[in-house]
Amino acid sequence: MTETLKGLKLNITGIVQGVGFRPFVYSLAVNNQLKGWVLNSSSGVEIEVNGLQTDLDAFVRQIREQTPPLARIDRMTVEEIEPNSFAEFTILSSQPRPGDFVPISPDVSICDDCTRELFDPANRRYRYPFINCTNCGPRFTIIQDIPYDRPLTTMADFQMCPDCEAEYRNPLDRRFHAQPTACPVCGPQVKFISGKGGDLAAEGALQEARQWLRNGKILAIKGLGGYHLACDAFNGDAVDELRRRKRRSDKPFALMAFDMATIHKHCHVSPREEELLLSHQHPVVILARRAGSAISPLTAPHQNTLGMMLPYTPLHLLLMEPEPGFPEVLVMTSGNLSEEPIAYEDEQAAQHLGEMADAFLIHNRPIHMRTDDSVARIALGNVYMIRRARGYAPDAIMLSSKVRPMLAAGSELKNTFTLARDNYAFMSHHIGDLENFETLQSFESGIRHYERLFKVVPEIIACDMHPNYLATRYAVQRAESENLPLIQVQHHHAHLASCLADNGWQPGDRQAIGIILDGTGMGTDGTIWGGEVLIGNYAGYTRRFHLEQMPLPGGDAAIRHPVRTCLAYLWKFGIEPAKELAPVSTMRASDLSILTQQLVNNINTIPTSSMGRLFDAVSSLIGVCQHASYEGQAAIDLENAIDPQENGFYAFPLVKDIVCLKPLFSEIIQELQMGVQKEKIAARFHNGIIRVLLAACQLIRSETGITDIALSGGVWQNMYLLTHAVQTLSGAGFNVMVHHQVPTNDGGISLGQLAVCEAQL
Ligand code: ZN
Ligand code: ZN
Ligand code: FE
Repeated sequence: MTETLKGLKLNITGIVQGVGFRPFVYSLAVNNQLKGWVLNSSSGVEIEVNGLQTDLDAFVRQIREQTPPLARIDRMTVEEIEPNSFAEFTILSSQPRPGDFVPISPDVSICDDCTRELFDPANRRYRYPFINCTNCGPRFTIIQDIPYDRPLTTMADFQMCPDCEAEYRNPLDRRFHAQPTACPVCGPQVKFISGKGGDLAAEGALQEARQWLRNGKILAIKGLGGYHLACDAFNGDAVDELRRRKRRSDKPFALMAFDMATIHKHCHVSPREEELLLSHQHPVVILARRAGSAISPLTAPHQNTLGMMLPYTPLHLLLMEPEPGFPEVLVMTSGNLSEEPIAYEDEQAAQHLGEMADAFLIHNRPIHMRTDDSVARIALGNVYMIRRARGYAPDAIMLSSKVRPMLAAGSELKNTFTLARDNYAFMSHHIGDLENFETLQSFESGIRHYERLFKVVPEIIACDMHPNYLATRYAVQRAESENLPLIQVQHHHAHLASCLADNGWQPGDRQAIGIILDGTGMGTDGTIWGGEVLIGNYAGYTRRFHLEQMPLPGGDAAIRHPVRTCLAYLWKFGIEPAKELAPVSTMRASDLSILTQQLVNNINTIPTSSMGRLFDAVSSLIGVCQHASYEGQAAIDLENAIDPQENGFYAFPLVKDIVCLKPLFSEIIQELQMGVQKEKIAARFHNGIIRVLLAACQLIRSETGITDIALSGGVWQNMYLLTHAVQTLSGAGFNVMVHHQVPTNDGGISLGQLAVCEAQL
């Protein structure tokens, strides 16, 4: 009996290009005795196959079940068609269709197969720092344009040798169509430059770099998305020197350890944290530091955490190979001056990093798109993103409904922008603080690059309400010159929408409570908001509660000086600034009287309800932090001061729509006079905040029946506050949403702007 031949046509969309999808389909087809073809179209992958019913069924099932590690199928349609008489199964060349787009893979950390080959003396890529394959290696950072083919990447100038070419053409090889594939014969090379002449290449360069690190020197190392500044993490002098040269006094440095065993030695690591460290994104993961670790405390001053990552390129693995006397953990901080974007072009690096680095370990594979290392942690058992960049961008965030092509420009600090079309939100990698020309440039060129890659022609532009944000100015100018509608979204409404979108919230009338605890954002009344309980959804919101306002002296300048904020609170509540108080004793009498004059005469002060500033003030009041060298430092130090055994709390009366703060300040001052430890005060402050938030939500629930709560804003990076608040609110029967895919800080704002913009049209 002969079974009849059947035909199928498959259309697959998702991350299916540059991830070994066609060879995967090829081998499945061949194994199931199917004939036909597969090709990359500009919207995904198309397949036509002929074969017996049972074989076709197995083929379709295996595509779903055995998807290659880096691929993600968003949609797959299977259609029965008349069989054609194919003689074999073939991979056809690409078929671009105008207007369509294909998701682009982020950079992927080195895979196990390549790691094995890297350290295998018999392999022809033994110790080759640029080994990669279809399952790993550079992607987004080397792509200049689409389609993703070698000539349109920064690998274009490297002509493949016959051996590499043969692998590249063989559908059954792991390097079939691996665009960045290379070997020591034909690919990029490393070089060591010390300024003393006698530059070294290849293995000599690596060994020399290791020697310099061993000797406590600071190296600029060209990596995947930019330059790192590296030094021995155990050498306090080296770390201190790096801080001085980088002009970064306190902000923690990222660290890199050769393997998991080393990280376990220095940090407490949960299974979820280990999984995140080992994920193909290889982010920096914030971990609890072990008490006995010999890593220099200067890597993360005043912190009980360390930001750790594993080597994600072959170059990093070779650089960090364990050897007696070689530091098993290196500082690997982005190669830039504090607050400037990471250096990624060789000339720029030589210019900017020349004074910071003792020597350079570079290579000749150009970086097209700079990306910083991503930073994440595990909170409440889930990934909690802090900086979304390498490994994650430009993966799209899936939206719960279709949107028009648009651009959301994002915020001023920790900027990301988002371009969207269909169900996809292409959120950019972390751009940085839009405070200088370099960052603004990378913002503008980033937008152009994403528009080209994903074929988004914005029909609407969304931005913040703050007129002086550079992102807002860009949006306003562009909307004007292209005659596009512009929607300005209130900062904290954007935070609420961002958390909703992050959690797949459907557009519609349903409302949620948004507890938005933030630094600062322009309010609709011209004051600065930031401690807000909103009720709303994508389309709109009401401001149900907010922190009692205080006059922020010098506006944003106060952010650097928690002491000023604290004194402004005391002045506002008519509390005599007694000499014994920490903020008073650290300030010169003359400065104090200038500040008082400023407050009395209302000169250059702006009312704010910011929760971030309240944290600053309390941090200053109890003597934890008077001046912040980076954003959020006072609040972070305050969190680190908490005595976790303390269950007491301060009262925050709710009067109409205001969370009153005077009793807090009087009580803390009283307790300070009684000699209560600052650790207990820090805990009582946090506990009190959580209580008043619960009370506010219960009131809203009784008024409206709303039980969904979204937590967003930079203050929610405080783990004590986050975990205890979620516990308390869930315990009281609320459904609490927190961020997962995008940061709770301003790095998530552009996603919220986008969701609001679509809903308001
Ligand atoms: Zn690989
Ligand atoms: Zn080669
Ligand atoms: Fe914010």
